Amino acid sequence: MEKANEVHKLEIQTLDRLAAFPNRPACIEPFDRLFRDRLREKELAADDRAVVGQFCNFVPEELVLAVGAQPIRIDSGCHYSARQGSKSLQADVCCAVRSLAGLAAAEDWPFSALDLIVAVTSCDGKKKFAETLSNQHDVFVLDLPQSNLGERARQWWLGEIRRLVERLQKLTGKKISRRSLKEAIELTNKRVSLARKLNQLRKSERPPINGADAMLVMQTSFVADIEWWLEKTEKLVEELEKRQADKVGSLPLARILLTGSPVLWPDFKLVELLIKSGADVVADEMCSGTQRLYNPTVVDEWTKPGLIRAAAERVLLPCTCPCFSKGARLDRLTELVNNYKVDGIIHHSLRLCQLYGLDSQTVASQFKKRRLPWLEIHSEFGPEDAGRMNNQIEAFIEMLQVDR
Ligand code: SF4
Ligand code: SF4
Repeated sequence: MEKANEVHKLEIQTLDRLAAFPNRPACIEPFDRLFRDRLREKELAADDRAVVGQFCNFVPEELVLAVGAQPIRIDSGCHYSARQGSKSLQADVCCAVRSLAGLAAAEDWPFSALDLIVAVTSCDGKKKFAETLSNQHDVFVLDLPQSNLGERARQWWLGEIRRLVERLQKLTGKKISRRSLKEAIELTNKRVSLARKLNQLRKSERPPINGADAMLVMQTSFVADIEWWLEKTEKLVEELEKRQADKVGSLPLARILLTGSPVLWPDFKLVELLIKSGADVVADEMCSGTQRLYNPTVVDEWTKPGLIRAAAERVLLPCTCPCFSKGARLDRLTELVNNYKVDGIIHHSLRLCQLYGLDSQTVASQFKKRRLPWLEIHSEFGPEDAGRMNNQIEAFIEMLQVDR
């Protein structure tokens, strides 16, 4: 109980800091309250539907919804649980995995709610951590192909997703029908279309929502009931459209594109420091941000196998995660740079995150060739490195202003 309070306390501290930024939209309040009052934890405790957790975004949530279960993404940026996790996990792994290990060891939310964990062989940290969890939880592992391009990868993944369908049906005792999957796809596609609308608004000269609140909205989708999220985001987008028309919102000193290791709730330190320095994150290419809700399920055959294939392809083909040997990350970053009038790119590398540590050099060299300012920031969860990060950010913003 004491541990749960520590994690929750950190969440409330982050929410209080976000609330102190000027000019917030009124409709952000339900998203704040979802985390502040731990509404979803209470809701799921009183709900008898099965809860299926995943670590990344590779489990098509439409399949989970179609068997009548509740999908959630399990991830944590809590430095308190990362410290606890270091006790149960002896290996030298990134703080995102250690934080999950701390929550799992304490059986804290969201682990307390889970009936099934679907792990994916994405990065080594998560892959190996999932194995340790199988003593404690029901864990189902999906094997990702090494590349997400080409027919071989596509067929392999479809086979994995078919195995997942069997497992999900066994969990709830409900068979996926063409109708239930079609309805679920309609919901997840509506979520994508709303998230896209919200992100489009950030292209404005004065974004009507700051980068931290936009990230909060994306990350509430990790756990929120999808219909709840759609209702609240629809209202928020309406308000943002009005704010945009009325030119309400701050004019950032520099427009930043954020990429790299995921920024995870409640550690929004990097985005907070950028806003405090007068800049703003107007776009991101993170699996914990825009990428999570960017790609719709594109159906070309409305049969049950056709819908399953479309769901499988949605999470694989356009994915920009560098766990794949050849990926779409560079193209996606270029698209964002071109569309969001970006002044500079910040690459976030969590300590011991090899995926991004290794990928950053290749990606950085492409943007350096184009003379687009690039800053590499290394961090860990928690406040300890905030001073050093702040110095780096301030120097970068100053340089961008001189270049403007
Ligand atoms: S970066 Fe890739 S491996 Fe890491 S959490 Fe995101 S999707 Fe998973
Ligand atoms: S931060 Fe990097 S190493 Fe850690 S879980 Fe995410 S992708 Fe894996």
